[in-house]
Amino acid sequence: MPKGKGLASRYYDVFAELKVSRRVVSKALKHILDKKIIVSSFNIEQGNVKIVKLLFPSETRRDFFHTLVIGEYGVKCDCEASALRGYICSHIAAGLIILDMFFKNTGREFSIKDFPQLRRYIEEHER
Ligand SMILES: [Zn+2]
Repeated sequence: MPKGKGLASRYYDVFAELKVSRRVVSKALKHILDKKIIVSSFNIEQGNVKIVKLLFPSETRRDFFHTLVIGEYGVKCDCEASALRGYICSHIAAGLIILDMFFKNTGREFSIKDFPQLRRYIEEHER
């Protein structure tokens, strides 16, 4: 992966602005590079996310998956970091990176930071 490093550091910067640690971002990148994510739904119409549902194998529990849903109105992950603590977990970060890569590939503008569903998630979990 020749351009892997530049890519990773760009995402570290994007997520640092959202107060997401490098550890979480590198976990997110690892989820993607490991290619173990199961794409359950990937429905994007005219540049609008209708529903993207991704399953991530748990690192601690065998045969167990965390489910990330990015819908029209919000983002939801059932892992502890997200569901219990309201953090932007590595699954959400991975989902957003995948969307970013997808939109860049299709020549559309996309901003992780300004993605409305993520803004809403952050607002809902602010304390
Ligand atoms: Zn999660």
